[in-house]
Amino acid sequence: MKIGNGLVFVPLGGAEEIGMNLNLYGLEKKWLMIDLGVAFGEDRLPGIDTIMPDPQFIVDHREDLLGLVLTHGHEDHLGAVKYLWPRLRCPIYATPFTAELLHSKLSETNFRDEVGVTKVSLGERFSIGPFDLEFITTTHSIPEPNAIALRTKLGTVVHTGDFKIDRQPIIGETFDSGALSRIGDEGVLAVVCDSTNVFEEKESGSESLLGDTFDKIIAETEGIVGVTTFASNVARIQTAVEAAIRSDRHAVLIGRSLVRTVQVARAAGYLNELPDFISEKDVGLLPRDKVLLICTGSQGEPRGALSRISYGQNRNIEFKSGDTIIFSSKIIPGNEKAIGRLQNQLSVLGVDVVTERDALVHVSGHPSRVELAEMYALTRPEVAIPVHGERRHIAEHAKLAKKLQIPQAIEVNNGSLVLLAPGKARVIDEVQSGKLALNGSQVVSVDSTLIKERKKLMHEGLISLTLLVDSTGDLKKAPNFITRGVLDDTNMDAIKDLAVIVIDSLEEFPQKIIECDDLLVKEMKRVLRKVMRNKWGSKPEIIVEVMRIEECSKK
Ligand SMILES: [Zn+2]
Ligand SMILES: [Zn+2]
Repeated sequence: MKIGNGLVFVPLGGAEEIGMNLNLYGLEKKWLMIDLGVAFGEDRLPGIDTIMPDPQFIVDHREDLLGLVLTHGHEDHLGAVKYLWPRLRCPIYATPFTAELLHSKLSETNFRDEVGVTKVSLGERFSIGPFDLEFITTTHSIPEPNAIALRTKLGTVVHTGDFKIDRQPIIGETFDSGALSRIGDEGVLAVVCDSTNVFEEKESGSESLLGDTFDKIIAETEGIVGVTTFASNVARIQTAVEAAIRSDRHAVLIGRSLVRTVQVARAAGYLNELPDFISEKDVGLLPRDKVLLICTGSQGEPRGALSRISYGQNRNIEFKSGDTIIFSSKIIPGNEKAIGRLQNQLSVLGVDVVTERDALVHVSGHPSRVELAEMYALTRPEVAIPVHGERRHIAEHAKLAKKLQIPQAIEVNNGSLVLLAPGKARVIDEVQSGKLALNGSQVVSVDSTLIKERKKLMHEGLISLTLLVDSTGDLKKAPNFITRGVLDDTNMDAIKDLAVIVIDSLEEFPQKIIECDDLLVKEMKRVLRKVMRNKWGSKPEIIVEVMRIEECSKK
């Protein structure tokens, strides 16, 4: 890899998926990381809820990693700090709300006191090694989102982070077009930009538009109104509470992550004007038309507050006919079935369900094509590099950038090494990239034996055979089978058939095989594999264990 003293950009995550963002900028052999996030597990990874980028490339350059800068507090941007920081051990920079959120997450780790987090003020400019950084306030679906201008001697990069253009956000500062256009006037080499909503034509819409719809729905509801949204969406919490106040209802927070968000937000100076929330236990003391619940579980998560109440697992609250639940969130692709199940259950209870298909109860936090065009008009870069998207988002975004007369658009994938300057910007190499999975508290490669075995067990099941034999191969006990996920209750007799095959095979195997455990295991597996394939059409994981009651005779 020949990067010399050039300015380079490397995405290690987030350039093939919406999630697990990890971006690197390199100059004079020094590196700066922007964001270190997680993604949801995938169907093809059984038992895995969280995945994250493989950071090995930068771990190998750890002494030259100057810092990790966080654009904002969403899990797909900071969720992996908790798992990967011990491999990196670099200082972290974040604005106050993001820093508070990070502290609250790191409090669960045993290295919390070792992480140095520097709080950056909104709009602050400071240097890290050869990088001169300026935080630019944008708008999104969490407080304090930032674009970051990286000025270097080889040119300026604007890393947009996740953004939308909201001129009337409910919380925090408005989108700082002035700063972006000022930097545009100075000259921008590249914009590395959010692609999430590149297929959307219409503007994302301001958070301030939602209050009226909430008021209307609340006015039409005789019973409890529930609003479910992402726990980190502080502005949406405020929108819901303000609607509750206007309709003389008391707001109740249900779900641990929501309670934590409110604590973090208040510590960072948000939501402090709102009245205190009513305790969950007191809901029963109030008439139903005086209650507004704000709940976790908008994605149909079985352990989310909304699911638990809907399935009668909450001691203090139950839903009835006359109640309304507002799904004030988007459907994350992959969660359609879980959300559908939950909405069916609410219908069974006679509860009205309102989603963004029915009314304006959610606005996206990401830029549509109109907002992307505005970002490019403000910054006027030489090069557009779309990130924060799947391949199709990135390809479409590159096309859009060209349509908007940006001289060059570069399509990247995880591991692309882009030389931004000197010379024409281009991909010059691919570096190691990949995914890691969180298995319990252990971080493993998605290609590890553990995951491979689990996939096989999930899809094909398991047969385990234990043979107790003496040195001549005579069985000292009937073959012992354990099966998991292979046979149905109605065909358990198959075990007897398998036992007969095992006994016959032991008689037929040559002495050389009988006498050696390894050969015996290998041959017996081959026989069982063949029987299972021919007779049952299945390919289960097969484990054979040989136990000798006398020592194996050596050849
Ligand atoms: Zn975000
Ligand atoms: Zn994001």
